[in-house]
Amino acid sequence: MKLSQDLQSILLELATLERSQAHGGTPTIPEQEEYEKAQAAHARLLDASGSAQLAVDDMEMEILRIQADERKLRQRERDDKAQLGAATDPETRKDLEHDLYAAKSRIADLMSELQEAHNEIHALRANLDVHGAKVSDSERKLEVLKRAAEAAQEAAANRPDPQVRIGELREQLPADIVAEYETVREENGVGAAAFTGRACGGCFIVLPPAEQNAVRNAAADELPQCSDCGSYLVRPAS
Ligand SMILES: [Zn+2]
Repeated sequence: MKLSQDLQSILLELATLERSQAHGGTPTIPEQEEYEKAQAAHARLLDASGSAQLAVDDMEMEILRIQADERKLRQRERDDKAQLGAATDPETRKDLEHDLYAAKSRIADLMSELQEAHNEIHALRANLDVHGAKVSDSERKLEVLKRAAEAAQEAAANRPDPQVRIGELREQLPADIVAEYETVREENGVGAAAFTGRACGGCFIVLPPAEQNAVRNAAADELPQCSDCGSYLVRPAS
């Protein structure tokens, strides 16, 4: 098929545009996808941070419980001592001394539990701080990605409708050329493709050397066909 070189580039743009349209309607916006991925990662960070906060809260409750128990035991210790000061009956004194010993021993246990809890809450708060820093960092990144996604979406919305451009391109081409192109496109879904110098841009087959030469040496207004898929091969304008 013969077509002047300036119209060859029109045909190639038409074929490329129609091929990209055929591959699944609305093109995805990479910025939007990246933003959505970051949102999911951020949600996971928030979950982890929430768990870290819960662990701190639990340990604070534990410390309050230990301190409340300690206050009760100290009171019992004081009561026992006061009663011992007044008691004369040996049985009563024995019971009071026994109770005093139990209270002191339990207080000692609680003090060691409290020490342990303080060590743990220190580590848990440090962990919570790390999570907090990660969340802040992620929030900043999310904000940047959100703006990029919005800008990309706006750009996509402002892009001219490909169908309009396809109509314009078709009008610039002779009717018999469009008909030829359509015939091949119906067969192979491509119609016309760029020739890379070695391969067909339609089926991506590297042509045999003799055919490569034939394509390269064809007249400038000639559109050779790929021997594999039949697409019209458009050479880069020299
Ligand atoms: Zn081909």
